[in-house]
Amino acid sequence: VIDVAIVGYGPVGATAANLLGARGLEVEVFEATTSVYHLPRAAHFDAEVMRVFQGIGLANAVLSCAAPVRGMHFVTASGQKLMCFDAPDEPTANGWAAGYMFYQPDLERTLRAGVTRFPNVRVNLGTEVTAVRDGEVEAAGRVVRARYVLGCDGARSLVRRSAGIELDDAGFDQPWLVVDTFLRRDVALSPVVLQVCDPSRPSTFVPSAGAHRRWEFMVMPGERPEEMEKPARVRELLAPWVDPDAVDVVRAVVYSFHALVSSSWRTGSLVLAGDAAHQMPPFLGQGMCAGIRDVASLAWKLDLVLRGTASDALLDTYQTEREPDVRQIVRLAVQLGGLIQTTDAAVAAARDAQFAEQGPASLGGELMPASGPGVFHRSSSRKPFPQVGVRDEQLGDGFAIVASEPVAFEAPIERCVVDDGSVGATIVRPDRYVFGVAGSSDALRTMMDDLRRLVGAGARG
Ligand SMILES: Cc1cc2nc3c(=O)[nH]c(=O)nc-3n(C[C@H](O)[C@H](O)[C@H](O)COP(=O)(O)OP(=O)(O)OC[C@H]3O[C@@H](n4cnc5c(N)ncnc54)[C@H](O)[C@@H]3O)c2cc1C
Repeated sequence: VIDVAIVGYGPVGATAANLLGARGLEVEVFEATTSVYHLPRAAHFDAEVMRVFQGIGLANAVLSCAAPVRGMHFVTASGQKLMCFDAPDEPTANGWAAGYMFYQPDLERTLRAGVTRFPNVRVNLGTEVTAVRDGEVEAAGRVVRARYVLGCDGARSLVRRSAGIELDDAGFDQPWLVVDTFLRRDVALSPVVLQVCDPSRPSTFVPSAGAHRRWEFMVMPGERPEEMEKPARVRELLAPWVDPDAVDVVRAVVYSFHALVSSSWRTGSLVLAGDAAHQMPPFLGQGMCAGIRDVASLAWKLDLVLRGTASDALLDTYQTEREPDVRQIVRLAVQLGGLIQTTDAAVAAARDAQFAEQGPASLGGELMPASGPGVFHRSSSRKPFPQVGVRDEQLGDGFAIVASEPVAFEAPIERCVVDDGSVGATIVRPDRYVFGVAGSSDALRTMMDDLRRLVGAGARG
């Protein structure tokens, strides 16, 4: 019996394989296709996701195929700004740029290359999982037994269907034409993402990494998707933006954007992550990010449970922590989708007039919601510990205390890092979220007791 079977080797499955591989667990990955999905979907990830890549030792490799985000503006057809996010030049509290633009196939190749460092992770490409039961998967005529089966198998997840888990529909279903291009020559285009709230044709421009540029055009009522995908139509749509001869069209495909969240994220040994658990419209560039947060929250919990130091009930906190966060991001993405997708000219004019009066709204700062309740002390912000003074490498892979002076600690805490700038003591979780903050040694002792009650002594090795 292996520790974890991962079904699906997209960005979420590949990140999970790195996280679990680094923890020394016996993992087997099953992926139906033989190579990374050649068409880009995600184009943006945020600072917290970069921090997950840092944690698996792939920050530099990922940076080589990513470029810092400059911002995102919601504008009208005439260029009036409705909402703006301009990325600061300096690193954010997560220790990285606010976000990065990237080319998904490059990122996936980097994540997969990272997995080859772990002899304890076996990857089966071209191997479709055909049946999933509690504690086992069946692929290519072989039955593999696993303590946990991680469904990273995307929107049509077999693991989700096998677990009998339903999706809640947040009421969003809109086709958009997504056109990915590669610049043949230098062309002056916006350095920030533009969400053009034009009622006659809502559109998005994404300055991806390198010479990749993306446009997205809403499919208007009465338009047929297959007509929209035709090269001549794509050229017409691109023409107001760029000389169509200046770009090579990599693909032009109509996607239906949805807003769906699983009613349950785990049944027994079957656990869902990424698009298998939730899908959202891409207006915030958060779908894959949410999936990577999922597996970052899950990996250390699975490790503690598989090593027998914490009970299986610890895994219940996976959903309690992740679901409220995901639902809030989905709601926000749907709201922004509603703003950009207005096709009623009168409604759009009233909206624009209102923004003209109040000035452009600022999008950013505290956009990311706090985690839901779970393995947190009541003093916790339920947010990531700022990577400002102390770097994550100093914290190690387990629970750590950051304090202004050395303090005594015991398992599950593995380290104490002294930081002159810190006030009191903070316990940081393995996924870098703040477990809790204590202002006195008594408070710290009680907080450590609380931690032990929640996760056990957590000795690893
Ligand atoms: C146009 C567009 C733009 C987007 N932009 C962004 C963005 O900017 N930022 C962002 O964060 N997100 C974005 N997203 C969302 C993002 O692409 C997805 O959330 C992300 O790819 C999901 O990753 P995943 O690993 O969960 O699933 P997937 O990438 O779908 O991977 C699932 C894998 O499982 C495999 N699989 C399925 N069934 C089986 C089986 N039975 N056996 C074996 N293997 C199986 C599949 O072959 C696939 O490789 C965007 C999406 C779209 C469509």
